[in-house]
Amino acid sequence: MMRIPLPTEAVRIIDTLKAHGYKAYAVGGCVRDFVMGHTPDDYDITTDALPEQTAEVFTDAKVIKTGIKHGTVTVMLNSFKAEITTFRIDGTYTDSRHPDEVVFCPELKEDLKRRDFTMNALAYNHDEGFMDFFGGIDDINSGTIRCVGEAEIRFSEDALRILRALRFASVLGFDIADSTANAIYTGYPLLANISAERIFTELKKLLCGKEAYTVLTRFKDVFCFLIPELGRLSDEDYRHTAFMVSKVPAVLKISGLFYHCGAQGAHSALKRLKSDNKTTHEVCTIIEACSEKLSDCRVDALKLLNKYDSAPMLYAIDLMLCDTNQSDCRMLTNLRQVITDIVSHNECYKISQLAVNGSDLINAGITDGKLIGKILNFILNEIIENRVSNNREHLLKLIQNSDIKR
Ligand code: ATP
Ligand code: MG
Repeated sequence: MMRIPLPTEAVRIIDTLKAHGYKAYAVGGCVRDFVMGHTPDDYDITTDALPEQTAEVFTDAKVIKTGIKHGTVTVMLNSFKAEITTFRIDGTYTDSRHPDEVVFCPELKEDLKRRDFTMNALAYNHDEGFMDFFGGIDDINSGTIRCVGEAEIRFSEDALRILRALRFASVLGFDIADSTANAIYTGYPLLANISAERIFTELKKLLCGKEAYTVLTRFKDVFCFLIPELGRLSDEDYRHTAFMVSKVPAVLKISGLFYHCGAQGAHSALKRLKSDNKTTHEVCTIIEACSEKLSDCRVDALKLLNKYDSAPMLYAIDLMLCDTNQSDCRMLTNLRQVITDIVSHNECYKISQLAVNGSDLINAGITDGKLIGKILNFILNEIIENRVSNNREHLLKLIQNSDIKR
Protein backbone atom coordinates (compact mmCIF):
# COMPACT_ATOMS: atom_id res chain seq x y z
CA MET A 1 0.00 0.00 0.00
CA MET A 2 1.31 3.40 -0.98
CA ARG A 3 1.97 5.68 2.00
CA ILE A 4 2.04 9.42 1.63
CA PRO A 5 4.35 11.52 3.79
CA LEU A 6 1.73 13.29 5.89
CA PRO A 7 3.29 15.73 8.36
CA THR A 8 3.45 14.31 11.89
CA GLU A 9 0.98 16.92 13.12
CA ALA A 10 -1.62 15.79 10.56
CA VAL A 11 -1.07 12.20 11.64
CA ARG A 12 -1.47 13.23 15.27
CA ILE A 13 -4.78 14.95 14.53
CA ILE A 14 -6.11 11.94 12.62
CA ASP A 15 -4.91 9.48 15.28
CA THR A 16 -6.36 11.56 18.10
CA LEU A 17 -9.78 11.61 16.45
CA LYS A 18 -9.55 7.88 15.83
CA ALA A 19 -8.51 7.20 19.42
CA HIS A 20 -11.79 8.85 20.45
CA GLY A 21 -13.74 6.52 18.20
CA TYR A 22 -14.21 8.80 15.21
CA LYS A 23 -13.27 8.31 11.56
CA ALA A 24 -10.72 10.77 10.21
CA TYR A 25 -8.89 11.29 6.92
CA ALA A 26 -6.76 13.82 5.12
CA VAL A 27 -8.91 14.96 2.21
CA GLY A 28 -9.12 17.10 -0.91
CA GLY A 29 -6.31 19.25 -2.27
CA CYS A 30 -3.62 17.96 0.10
CA VAL A 31 -4.16 14.34 -0.93
CA ARG A 32 -4.22 15.35 -4.60
CA ASP A 33 -0.95 17.25 -4.13
CA PHE A 34 0.76 14.26 -2.48
CA VAL A 35 -0.39 11.90 -5.25
CA MET A 36 1.14 14.32 -7.74
CA GLY A 37 4.37 14.44 -5.73
CA HIS A 38 3.82 18.04 -4.62
CA THR A 39 3.97 19.34 -1.05
CA PRO A 40 0.61 20.79 -0.02
CA ASP A 41 0.24 24.33 1.33
CA ASP A 42 -2.65 23.51 3.61
CA TYR A 43 -4.29 20.48 5.14
CA ASP A 44 -7.94 19.55 5.35
CA ILE A 45 -9.12 16.75 7.57
CA THR A 46 -12.56 15.20 7.24
CA THR A 47 -14.23 13.36 10.12
CA ASP A 48 -17.56 12.07 11.33
CA ALA A 49 -17.05 13.93 14.62
CA LEU A 50 -19.37 16.91 14.95
CA PRO A 51 -17.61 20.29 15.25
CA GLU A 52 -18.28 20.46 19.01
CA GLN A 53 -16.96 16.93 19.42
CA THR A 54 -13.81 17.81 17.48
CA ALA A 55 -13.29 20.84 19.70
CA GLU A 56 -13.63 18.63 22.81
CA VAL A 57 -11.06 16.15 21.55
CA PHE A 58 -8.38 18.83 21.09
CA THR A 59 -8.58 20.46 24.49
CA ASP A 60 -4.79 20.88 24.70
CA ALA A 61 -4.46 22.48 21.23
CA LYS A 62 -5.58 25.85 19.99
CA VAL A 63 -9.03 25.41 18.44
CA ILE A 64 -10.63 28.12 16.33
CA LYS A 65 -14.32 27.71 15.58
CA THR A 66 -13.93 28.88 12.00
CA GLY A 67 -17.24 27.89 10.50
CA ILE A 68 -19.24 25.86 12.98
CA LYS A 69 -22.32 26.18 10.77
CA HIS A 70 -20.51 24.55 7.85
CA GLY A 71 -18.89 22.06 10.17
CA THR A 72 -15.37 23.46 10.18
CA VAL A 73 -13.01 24.02 13.08
CA THR A 74 -9.35 24.95 12.75
CA VAL A 75 -6.85 23.15 14.97
CA MET A 76 -3.40 24.61 15.54
CA LEU A 77 -0.51 22.44 16.71
CA ASN A 78 2.30 24.95 17.18
CA SER A 79 2.59 26.52 13.73
CA PHE A 80 0.79 23.66 11.97
CA LYS A 81 -2.77 24.44 11.05
CA ALA A 82 -5.46 22.06 9.83
CA GLU A 83 -9.08 22.62 8.97
CA ILE A 84 -11.23 19.83 10.33
CA THR A 85 -14.64 19.50 8.71
CA THR A 86 -17.46 17.13 9.57
CA PHE A 87 -18.66 14.75 6.83
CA ARG A 88 -21.52 16.55 5.18
CA ILE A 89 -23.94 16.54 2.29
CA ASP A 90 -24.77 19.84 0.68
CA GLY A 91 -28.53 20.37 0.61
CA THR A 92 -30.33 21.65 -2.47
CA TYR A 93 -28.93 24.63 -4.38
CA THR A 94 -31.39 27.21 -5.59
CA ASP A 95 -28.94 29.85 -6.76
CA SER A 96 -25.94 28.09 -8.39
CA ARG A 97 -23.90 29.54 -5.57
CA HIS A 98 -24.32 28.02 -2.15
CA PRO A 99 -26.33 25.18 -0.72
CA ASP A 100 -29.49 26.17 1.11
CA GLU A 101 -28.37 24.02 4.03
CA VAL A 102 -25.62 21.60 4.93
CA VAL A 103 -26.43 18.29 6.53
CA PHE A 104 -23.86 16.36 8.54
CA CYS A 105 -23.69 12.67 7.69
CA PRO A 106 -21.95 9.58 9.05
CA GLU A 107 -20.46 8.28 5.78
CA LEU A 108 -17.19 9.33 4.17
CA LYS A 109 -18.49 8.42 0.73
CA GLU A 110 -21.33 10.93 0.99
CA ASP A 111 -18.85 13.65 1.89
CA LEU A 112 -16.59 12.79 -1.06
CA LYS A 113 -19.56 12.75 -3.42
CA ARG A 114 -20.30 16.45 -2.83
CA ARG A 115 -16.75 17.46 -3.82
CA ASP A 116 -16.12 19.05 -7.20
CA PHE A 117 -13.66 16.85 -9.11
CA THR A 118 -12.56 13.25 -8.80
CA MET A 119 -8.98 14.38 -8.10
CA ASN A 120 -10.33 16.41 -5.14
CA ALA A 121 -12.55 13.62 -3.87
CA LEU A 122 -9.77 11.50 -2.37
CA ALA A 123 -9.34 10.75 1.30
CA TYR A 124 -6.40 9.09 3.00
CA ASN A 125 -5.08 7.91 6.33
CA HIS A 126 -2.17 5.63 7.19
CA ASP A 127 -4.38 2.79 8.42
CA GLU A 128 -6.80 2.52 5.53
CA GLY A 129 -4.77 4.01 2.68
CA PHE A 130 -6.59 5.80 -0.13
CA MET A 131 -10.35 6.05 -0.17
CA ASP A 132 -10.99 6.54 -3.86
CA PHE A 133 -14.64 5.96 -4.80
CA PHE A 134 -14.67 7.95 -8.03
CA GLY A 135 -11.47 7.03 -9.85
CA GLY A 136 -9.57 10.08 -8.63
CA ILE A 137 -6.14 8.44 -8.64
CA ASP A 138 -6.52 7.24 -12.23
CA ASP A 139 -7.64 10.72 -13.23
CA ILE A 140 -4.63 12.32 -11.52
CA ASN A 141 -2.31 9.85 -13.21
CA SER A 142 -3.78 10.57 -16.63
CA GLY A 143 -4.02 14.31 -15.86
CA THR A 144 -7.80 14.58 -16.15
CA ILE A 145 -10.23 16.96 -14.51
CA ARG A 146 -13.58 15.26 -14.20
CA CYS A 147 -16.64 16.21 -12.19
CA VAL A 148 -17.84 13.83 -9.51
CA GLY A 149 -21.18 12.76 -10.93
CA GLU A 150 -23.09 14.51 -13.71
CA ALA A 151 -21.11 17.60 -14.74
CA GLU A 152 -24.13 19.65 -15.80
CA ILE A 153 -25.83 19.12 -12.45
CA ARG A 154 -22.66 19.84 -10.49
CA PHE A 155 -22.13 23.14 -12.35
CA SER A 156 -25.76 24.13 -11.92
CA GLU A 157 -25.39 23.56 -8.15
CA ASP A 158 -22.32 25.79 -7.95
CA ALA A 159 -21.11 27.60 -11.05
CA LEU A 160 -17.79 28.55 -9.46
CA ARG A 161 -16.78 24.94 -10.16
CA ILE A 162 -16.61 25.91 -13.84
CA LEU A 163 -13.90 28.41 -13.13
CA ARG A 164 -12.19 26.06 -10.69
CA ALA A 165 -12.00 23.46 -13.47
CA LEU A 166 -10.36 26.00 -15.78
CA ARG A 167 -8.03 27.18 -13.01
CA PHE A 168 -6.88 23.62 -12.25
CA ALA A 169 -6.44 22.94 -15.98
CA SER A 170 -4.19 25.99 -16.24
CA VAL A 171 -2.22 25.49 -13.02
CA LEU A 172 -1.83 21.70 -13.07
CA GLY A 173 -1.64 21.38 -16.85
CA PHE A 174 -4.46 18.80 -16.77
CA ASP A 175 -6.93 18.10 -19.51
CA ILE A 176 -10.66 18.45 -18.93
CA ALA A 177 -12.71 15.30 -19.56
CA ASP A 178 -15.06 15.68 -22.56
CA SER A 179 -18.23 15.38 -20.53
CA THR A 180 -16.99 18.04 -18.12
CA ALA A 181 -15.72 20.33 -20.91
CA ASN A 182 -19.07 20.08 -22.74
CA ALA A 183 -20.91 21.05 -19.57
CA ILE A 184 -18.62 24.08 -19.32
CA TYR A 185 -19.33 25.13 -22.91
CA THR A 186 -23.05 25.05 -22.27
CA GLY A 187 -23.16 26.06 -18.61
CA TYR A 188 -20.82 29.05 -18.37
CA PRO A 189 -23.63 31.68 -18.33
CA LEU A 190 -24.37 30.38 -14.81
CA LEU A 191 -21.22 32.24 -13.75
CA ALA A 192 -23.45 35.32 -13.70
CA ASN A 193 -24.61 34.02 -10.29
CA ILE A 194 -21.11 34.10 -8.80
CA SER A 195 -19.76 37.13 -6.97
CA ALA A 196 -17.14 39.21 -8.74
CA GLU A 197 -14.69 38.75 -5.86
CA ARG A 198 -14.74 34.95 -6.14
CA ILE A 199 -14.43 35.10 -9.92
CA PHE A 200 -11.48 37.46 -9.74
CA THR A 201 -9.71 35.29 -7.14
CA GLU A 202 -9.94 32.23 -9.40
CA LEU A 203 -9.06 34.23 -12.49
CA LYS A 204 -5.84 35.55 -10.96
CA LYS A 205 -4.70 32.01 -10.12
CA LEU A 206 -5.72 30.79 -13.57
CA LEU A 207 -3.68 33.50 -15.32
CA CYS A 208 -0.55 32.40 -13.42
CA GLY A 209 -0.89 28.77 -14.48
CA LYS A 210 1.54 27.22 -16.94
CA GLU A 211 -1.27 26.36 -19.36
CA ALA A 212 -3.00 29.75 -19.25
CA TYR A 213 -2.61 30.14 -23.02
CA THR A 214 -4.32 26.82 -23.77
CA VAL A 215 -7.17 27.48 -21.37
CA LEU A 216 -7.73 31.10 -22.46
CA THR A 217 -7.92 30.12 -26.11
CA ARG A 218 -9.84 26.86 -25.73
CA PHE A 219 -12.49 28.42 -23.48
CA LYS A 220 -12.53 31.85 -25.08
CA ASP A 221 -16.34 32.14 -24.80
CA VAL A 222 -16.16 31.79 -21.03
CA PHE A 223 -13.62 34.60 -20.65
CA CYS A 224 -15.44 36.88 -23.08
CA PHE A 225 -18.58 36.28 -21.04
CA LEU A 226 -16.81 37.16 -17.81
CA ILE A 227 -14.98 40.12 -19.35
CA PRO A 228 -16.93 41.67 -22.26
CA GLU A 229 -13.96 43.95 -22.98
CA LEU A 230 -12.10 40.83 -24.18
CA GLY A 231 -15.08 39.92 -26.35
CA ARG A 232 -14.65 43.15 -28.28
CA LEU A 233 -11.14 42.27 -29.41
CA SER A 234 -10.44 40.83 -32.84
CA ASP A 235 -9.66 37.09 -32.88
CA GLU A 236 -6.07 37.99 -33.58
CA ASP A 237 -5.83 40.38 -30.61
CA TYR A 238 -7.59 37.90 -28.33
CA ARG A 239 -5.13 35.16 -29.25
CA HIS A 240 -2.26 37.57 -28.77
CA THR A 241 -3.67 38.53 -25.35
CA ALA A 242 -3.53 34.87 -24.32
CA PHE A 243 0.03 34.76 -25.61
CA MET A 244 1.02 37.85 -23.61
CA VAL A 245 -0.52 36.42 -20.43
CA SER A 246 1.49 33.24 -20.86
CA LYS A 247 4.76 35.14 -21.47
CA VAL A 248 4.78 37.87 -18.82
CA PRO A 249 5.99 37.37 -15.23
CA ALA A 250 3.37 36.83 -12.50
CA VAL A 251 3.16 40.52 -11.46
CA LEU A 252 2.16 41.46 -15.01
CA LYS A 253 -0.48 38.80 -15.71
CA ILE A 254 -3.47 41.13 -15.23
CA SER A 255 -1.79 43.88 -17.23
CA GLY A 256 -1.12 41.30 -19.94
CA LEU A 257 -4.79 40.30 -19.95
CA PHE A 258 -5.85 43.89 -20.66
CA TYR A 259 -2.92 44.80 -22.90
CA HIS A 260 -5.17 45.15 -25.96
CA CYS A 261 -8.15 46.63 -24.10
CA GLY A 262 -6.59 50.00 -23.35
CA ALA A 263 -6.52 51.73 -19.95
CA GLN A 264 -10.25 52.57 -20.19
CA GLY A 265 -11.20 48.98 -20.92
CA ALA A 266 -8.95 47.69 -18.14
CA HIS A 267 -10.49 50.19 -15.75
CA SER A 268 -14.11 49.25 -16.39
CA ALA A 269 -13.33 45.52 -16.34
CA LEU A 270 -11.36 45.71 -13.09
CA LYS A 271 -14.04 47.83 -11.42
CA ARG A 272 -16.61 45.23 -12.40
CA LEU A 273 -14.38 42.44 -11.07
CA LYS A 274 -14.17 44.38 -7.76
CA SER A 275 -10.40 44.54 -7.98
CA ASP A 276 -8.80 46.55 -5.17
CA ASN A 277 -8.11 50.18 -6.10
CA LYS A 278 -4.34 49.79 -5.87
CA THR A 279 -4.24 46.96 -8.42
CA THR A 280 -6.69 48.74 -10.72
CA HIS A 281 -4.64 51.92 -10.61
CA GLU A 282 -1.34 50.10 -11.19
CA VAL A 283 -2.64 48.06 -14.11
CA CYS A 284 -4.26 51.08 -15.79
CA THR A 285 -1.12 53.18 -15.36
CA ILE A 286 1.03 50.45 -16.88
CA ILE A 287 -1.32 50.01 -19.83
CA GLU A 288 -1.53 53.74 -20.39
CA ALA A 289 2.27 53.96 -20.36
CA CYS A 290 2.34 51.27 -23.05
CA SER A 291 0.32 53.54 -25.33
CA GLU A 292 2.94 56.33 -25.18
CA LYS A 293 5.26 56.93 -28.06
CA LEU A 294 8.43 55.75 -26.36
CA SER A 295 11.97 56.76 -27.12
CA ASP A 296 15.20 56.03 -25.33
CA CYS A 297 16.55 59.56 -25.37
CA ARG A 298 17.27 60.86 -21.88
CA VAL A 299 14.99 63.91 -22.00
CA ASP A 300 12.07 61.77 -23.16
CA ALA A 301 12.82 59.22 -20.45
CA LEU A 302 12.73 61.98 -17.80
CA LYS A 303 9.38 63.19 -19.15
CA LEU A 304 7.97 59.67 -19.02
CA LEU A 305 9.21 59.27 -15.46
CA ASN A 306 7.60 62.58 -14.56
CA LYS A 307 4.28 61.35 -15.90
CA TYR A 308 4.32 57.71 -14.76
CA ASP A 309 7.12 57.31 -12.20
CA SER A 310 9.71 54.58 -12.39
CA ALA A 311 7.97 51.37 -11.22
CA PRO A 312 5.00 51.52 -13.66
CA MET A 313 7.32 52.66 -16.44
CA LEU A 314 9.65 49.70 -15.95
CA TYR A 315 6.68 47.34 -15.78
CA ALA A 316 5.30 48.82 -19.02
CA ILE A 317 8.65 48.22 -20.69
CA ASP A 318 8.78 44.61 -19.44
CA LEU A 319 5.25 44.07 -20.70
CA MET A 320 6.06 45.50 -24.13
CA LEU A 321 9.25 43.46 -24.33
CA CYS A 322 7.01 40.36 -24.25
CA ASP A 323 5.10 41.69 -27.25
CA THR A 324 7.46 40.21 -29.78
CA ASN A 325 5.10 41.20 -32.64
CA GLN A 326 5.26 44.91 -32.15
CA SER A 327 8.06 46.03 -29.98
CA ASP A 328 11.33 47.63 -30.83
CA CYS A 329 13.27 45.53 -28.35
CA ARG A 330 16.54 47.40 -28.76
CA MET A 331 14.95 50.76 -28.03
CA LEU A 332 13.01 49.29 -25.07
CA THR A 333 16.12 47.68 -23.62
CA ASN A 334 18.01 50.96 -23.98
CA LEU A 335 15.15 52.89 -22.40
CA ARG A 336 15.10 50.43 -19.51
CA GLN A 337 18.82 51.06 -19.01
CA VAL A 338 18.42 54.84 -19.22
CA ILE A 339 15.64 54.74 -16.62
CA THR A 340 17.59 52.51 -14.22
CA ASP A 341 20.49 54.90 -14.62
CA ILE A 342 18.35 57.98 -13.89
CA VAL A 343 16.88 56.30 -10.81
CA SER A 344 20.20 55.04 -9.47
CA HIS A 345 21.75 58.52 -9.82
CA ASN A 346 18.68 60.02 -8.19
CA GLU A 347 18.34 62.40 -11.12
CA CYS A 348 15.56 64.90 -10.86
CA TYR A 349 12.29 64.31 -12.73
CA LYS A 350 9.68 65.41 -10.20
CA ILE A 351 9.05 68.51 -8.07
CA SER A 352 9.85 66.73 -4.81
CA GLN A 353 13.38 66.07 -6.09
CA LEU A 354 14.13 69.75 -6.82
CA ALA A 355 17.00 71.30 -4.84
CA VAL A 356 14.65 74.19 -4.00
CA ASN A 357 11.11 74.14 -2.65
CA GLY A 358 8.12 76.36 -1.96
CA SER A 359 9.67 77.93 1.15
CA ASP A 360 12.62 79.12 -0.91
CA LEU A 361 10.20 80.92 -3.20
CA ILE A 362 8.32 82.44 -0.26
CA ASN A 363 11.65 83.67 1.15
CA ALA A 364 12.29 85.25 -2.23
CA GLY A 365 9.07 87.21 -1.80
CA ILE A 366 6.76 85.09 -3.97
CA THR A 367 3.63 84.47 -1.96
CA ASP A 368 0.98 83.56 -4.52
CA GLY A 369 0.51 79.78 -4.20
CA LYS A 370 -0.50 79.33 -7.81
CA LEU A 371 2.57 81.21 -9.00
CA ILE A 372 4.80 79.11 -6.73
CA GLY A 373 3.48 75.98 -8.39
CA LYS A 374 4.00 77.44 -11.83
CA ILE A 375 7.57 78.45 -11.09
CA LEU A 376 8.50 75.08 -9.60
CA ASN A 377 7.12 73.38 -12.71
CA PHE A 378 9.03 75.78 -14.92
CA ILE A 379 12.27 75.03 -13.09
CA LEU A 380 11.61 71.28 -13.26
CA ASN A 381 11.05 71.54 -16.99
CA GLU A 382 14.30 73.48 -17.43
CA ILE A 383 16.13 70.72 -15.56
CA ILE A 384 14.48 67.92 -17.56
CA GLU A 385 15.32 69.71 -20.80
CA ASN A 386 18.88 69.91 -19.49
CA ARG A 387 19.07 73.71 -19.66
CA VAL A 388 19.89 74.16 -15.96
CA SER A 389 21.24 71.75 -13.39
CA ASN A 390 19.47 70.81 -10.18
CA ASN A 391 21.93 72.82 -8.12
CA ARG A 392 20.63 74.81 -5.18
CA GLU A 393 22.89 77.85 -5.71
CA HIS A 394 21.98 78.04 -9.40
CA LEU A 395 18.32 77.62 -8.76
CA LEU A 396 18.24 80.25 -6.00
CA LYS A 397 19.84 82.68 -8.46
CA LEU A 398 17.31 81.74 -11.08
CA ILE A 399 14.52 82.51 -8.60
CA GLN A 400 15.96 85.99 -7.99
CA ASN A 401 15.65 86.64 -11.72
CA SER A 402 12.60 88.86 -12.13
CA ASP A 403 11.48 87.23 -15.41
CA ILE A 404 10.61 84.04 -13.69
CA LYS A 405 8.15 85.79 -11.40
CA ARG A 406 5.72 86.44 -14.19
P1 ATP B 1 -6.01 24.66 -3.65
O1 ATP B 1 -6.10 24.84 -2.16
O2 ATP B 1 -4.71 24.16 -4.15
O3 ATP B 1 -6.54 25.83 -4.41
P2 ATP B 1 -8.02 22.71 -3.15
O4 ATP B 1 -8.54 21.56 -3.97
O5 ATP B 1 -7.45 22.39 -1.82
O6 ATP B 1 -7.00 23.47 -4.05
P3 ATP B 1 -9.87 24.37 -1.71
O7 ATP B 1 -10.64 25.55 -2.18
O8 ATP B 1 -8.86 24.53 -0.65
O9 ATP B 1 -9.20 23.73 -3.02
O10 ATP B 1 -10.96 23.29 -1.29
C1 ATP B 1 -10.65 22.12 -0.56
C2 ATP B 1 -11.51 20.96 -1.07
O11 ATP B 1 -12.89 21.29 -0.91
C3 ATP B 1 -11.35 20.66 -2.54
O12 ATP B 1 -10.26 19.80 -2.78
C4 ATP B 1 -12.69 20.01 -2.86
O13 ATP B 1 -12.70 18.68 -2.42
C5 ATP B 1 -13.65 20.79 -2.01
N1 ATP B 1 -14.22 21.95 -2.71
C6 ATP B 1 -13.75 23.22 -2.73
N2 ATP B 1 -14.54 24.04 -3.45
C7 ATP B 1 -15.55 23.27 -3.89
C8 ATP B 1 -16.72 23.53 -4.67
N3 ATP B 1 -16.97 24.74 -5.15
N4 ATP B 1 -17.54 22.50 -4.92
C9 ATP B 1 -17.29 21.25 -4.44
N5 ATP B 1 -16.21 20.94 -3.71
C10 ATP B 1 -15.35 21.94 -3.43
MG1 MG C 1 -6.77 23.84 -0.35
